[in-house]
Amino acid sequence: MMNKGKLIIISGPSGAGKGTVLAELLRRKPQLKVSVSATTRAPRPGEEHGIHYYFITHKEFEEKIARGDMLEYATYCDNYYGTPADYVEEQRLKGNDIVLEIEPCGARQVKKKCPDAMMIFILPPNIDVLEARLRGRGTETSPVVAARIEQAKKEIANSGDYEYTVINDTVERAADEIEKIINQ
Ligand code: ADP
Ligand code: 5GP
Repeated sequence: MMNKGKLIIISGPSGAGKGTVLAELLRRKPQLKVSVSATTRAPRPGEEHGIHYYFITHKEFEEKIARGDMLEYATYCDNYYGTPADYVEEQRLKGNDIVLEIEPCGARQVKKKCPDAMMIFILPPNIDVLEARLRGRGTETSPVVAARIEQAKKEIANSGDYEYTVINDTVERAADEIEKIINQ
């Protein structure tokens, strides 16, 4: 029987550069699959339904939870985020490696259900750089940035149970490190 694909979890505070590093990783390894999450937050300019997220209502999200459609879910800064279970399992059974870019509460739920999942935490060089990146991205209002920084401090303080920690100083170097972890 074909080996099951690897399940790779990438977490880390908002603004650490998860999306940017993942894009570089996909450029290098185009065969990697990425899970598209569902969320109740509003789309940012340029974000598309079914590509960046499935943008659904609170009610729809709770119906999915009740049906058991979610591999994991969490509330992050007042919105629901979750991973649809079917796609992940489908891809793994086909032997494809799949990446989940999710926050730590969800990551821990996945690790419980799938102990073979690889957990990677992406860190910024320091908290000031994180704030500068988050503000520089320009996608959130000032109060939302402040809430995300508070959340980031908690996530970093609790990241001790991650198997791998990668500092995103440069995108190239962080992607190198993640590539090595995945290929091992
Ligand atoms: P996340 O997905 O973790 O929230 P993003 O990938 O959106 O973070 O990155 C946040 C901002 O920081 C973006 O504007 C991105 O261009 C920038 N950024 C990401 N990685 C780096 C890096 N290594 N050096 C400088 N800027 C970066
Ligand atoms: P953003 O609003 O910046 O896209 O994402 C906010 C946070 O939610 C990030 O930490 C991101 O990794 C996380 N996130 C995105 N999708 C999921 C998901 O499906 N499940 C969980 N638990 N977190 C997610």
